[in-house]
Amino acid sequence: ADEAAESATFWHHGSLDRAKLEQRVSLMGELDRAIDSGEIEVHYQPKLSLADDRITSVEALVRWRHPERGMIRPDLFIPLAEQTDRIAPLTLYMLDRITRDMAAWRERGLTLSAAINVSARLLTHTSFGEALCAVLTSGRIAPGSLILEVTESATIDDPDRAAETLRRYRDLGCAISMDDYGTGQSTLSYLQWLPLSELKIDRRFVQHAHLNHADELMVRSTIDLAHGLGLKVVAEGIEEEGCLTFLKEAGCDLAQGYFISRPLPLAELDALLGCHAKVEVTSESRPSVTR
Ligand code: C2E
Ligand code: MG
Ligand code: MG
Ligand code: MG
Repeated sequence: ADEAAESATFWHHGSLDRAKLEQRVSLMGELDRAIDSGEIEVHYQPKLSLADDRITSVEALVRWRHPERGMIRPDLFIPLAEQTDRIAPLTLYMLDRITRDMAAWRERGLTLSAAINVSARLLTHTSFGEALCAVLTSGRIAPGSLILEVTESATIDDPDRAAETLRRYRDLGCAISMDDYGTGQSTLSYLQWLPLSELKIDRRFVQHAHLNHADELMVRSTIDLAHGLGLKVVAEGIEEEGCLTFLKEAGCDLAQGYFISRPLPLAELDALLGCHAKVEVTSESRPSVTR
């Protein structure tokens, strides 16, 4: 029933006209070719550790460099890929790229964790599970350095099975993060059921938390709740210094947002990190990297 409702919103989404619909359908037809021909790229957005002002991890974000349409943002094709079963090959491709980059960082002595975004419905997907377990047992990446950011865009069909699968990944050294916390469905029960190590507060609550009392309350109580459950807290969408200052004061663990750094192509990330183990970033000396 859920599935039907979702595809109904897909086909009748808002004022989606025929031309737009055709464009979306043709995009999906092109995605397989795009993966094979190298149009899919990985950008990395740093996460800042607030206790010591250091970049300790990055989030991998997919980009599609389309030959005619230019750069296509994931919001346009990820939901479609999820609904048309192309999310598995896309995520497998991302996993491969990310773990190669992680292996290279490790060889250079960099201590850096990396997060991959995984749609909730892919958690129990067989080929994804196999690929992930192969990576985690290969010894190519440091134990604990890969983070799965689980997005709640869809409800988890079988929470018991998802929890069991996630426990297996965790036991193999993978950290599990709940993405976009506060905007999805059944979030409180997921917090109890899933073997999480991190919670990411959605930028909707974070962005104005230093200006708006209701948002501030949401962020503070989420940090309390997460810490009470033994989880680390990441805030996303920091666009101003005032917001960063507030999050430090509120005891948030990690912060991510345009004020710290935009998502960067690998070469720019490498330039930012230099060849040293860890890079220090403060609000006074933050790297001024543009896209
Ligand atoms: P997300 O995982 O919540 O990623 C954060 C999004 O917020 C990214 O958008 C990032 O560029 C953007 N962002 C970061 N800092 C700021 C800020 O300070 N202000 C604002 N306004 N935005 C900020 P992006 O890259 O367009 O990705 C959108 C969503 O697409 C992601 O949200 C994630 O759910 C999904 N996505 C991206 N890459 C992948 C992927 O490889 N696989 C899957 N399944 N989903 C992906
Ligand atoms: Mg994410
Ligand atoms: Mg997020
Ligand atoms: Mg988001």
